[in-house]
Amino acid sequence: MGELRGRLLANQPLGEFTWFRVGGAAQAFFMPEDENDLAYFLRNLPAEIAVTVIGAGSNLIVRDGGVPGVTIRLGRGFNNIAVQDGSRIGAGTAMLDVMVARAAQKAGIAGLSFLSGIPGSIGGALRMNGGAYGGETTDVLVEARGVDRQGNICTFAHADMGFAYRHSSVPDDVIFTAAVFQGRAGDPEAIAGEMAAIKSKREASQPRNRTGGSTFKNPPGHNAWKLIDEAGCRALTIGGAQVSPLHCNFLINLGNATAAEIEALGETVRARVKAHSGVTLEWEIKRIGQPA
Ligand SMILES: Cc1cc2nc3c(=O)[nH]c(=O)nc-3n(C[C@H](O)[C@H](O)[C@H](O)COP(=O)(O)OP(=O)(O)OC[C@H]3O[C@@H](n4cnc5c(N)ncnc54)[C@H](O)[C@@H]3O)c2cc1C
Repeated sequence: MGELRGRLLANQPLGEFTWFRVGGAAQAFFMPEDENDLAYFLRNLPAEIAVTVIGAGSNLIVRDGGVPGVTIRLGRGFNNIAVQDGSRIGAGTAMLDVMVARAAQKAGIAGLSFLSGIPGSIGGALRMNGGAYGGETTDVLVEARGVDRQGNICTFAHADMGFAYRHSSVPDDVIFTAAVFQGRAGDPEAIAGEMAAIKSKREASQPRNRTGGSTFKNPPGHNAWKLIDEAGCRALTIGGAQVSPLHCNFLINLGNATAAEIEALGETVRARVKAHSGVTLEWEIKRIGQPA
């Protein structure tokens, strides 16, 4: 790939790119320079090589045996942000959600404050239909751009995103590169107040270290945390992994957990909740790679 401009590395440990701080290495790790570089890479990568994309790693367990094939992480070339006419804002998908919320606040664009409560990147928000405190990505997305496994650059209108609760049905092989959001005119001071309220609610109710956020989706008609609590799993511990005593739908790495311990803890919680209430919990956290 003579025209490749990004950085391609072998055996890059991935734990450092995740909130849990666990997991093995990427067999190959690619950081494209920009969207065209990403498209060139994917066009020229043999079809049999698996591709995995990671964002800010805030919803991710990387298994201890690492990730085969190529893991892609978007960096500087995808960090652009631009306020547009009509209370719109465009952002590259490596941009953190909170930065988009802050840019919107400064520009007097209301409706995007909820993004300040999600510690991921815009790419992760598109894939997960990230939402918090009454707002969801689907409420504000106008369109997204992405590159498919064949290296085609595609545009997705809102209707093409197939958004559902913490899910987009855009094929898994699409790597999102940019998004445009629609807000509404608002008062910067009032928006700053909303963001401050979200921050203090989060600080009071969620662990903020070595976790992956909500582990399981809320099953229809239930709160996952409540089912977990009722099944007696609050503070349950396996090795270095613990169900957060503060918010029992969060798992935490106490410091020296392995990915296997965190995943085993999650599966134990699922089994206990099933036995106690009959409800099957579905993982919200994405697990990638192979066991050790
Ligand atoms: C403390 C804490 C609090 C949280 N609170 C919330 C909350 O309130 N609401 C909420 O919705 N989530 C919450 N989360 C979960 C997480 O922040 C979101 O799911 C977020 O959208 C994930 O973004 P990310 O960039 O970290 O993605 P990652 O964790 O890196 O990846 C998640 C998924 O997105 C995919 N992905 C990432 N980037 C791209 C891309 N460019 N193109 C295509 N796919 C991509 C990955 O392949 C993976 O499948 C929380 C997490 C933590 C740690």
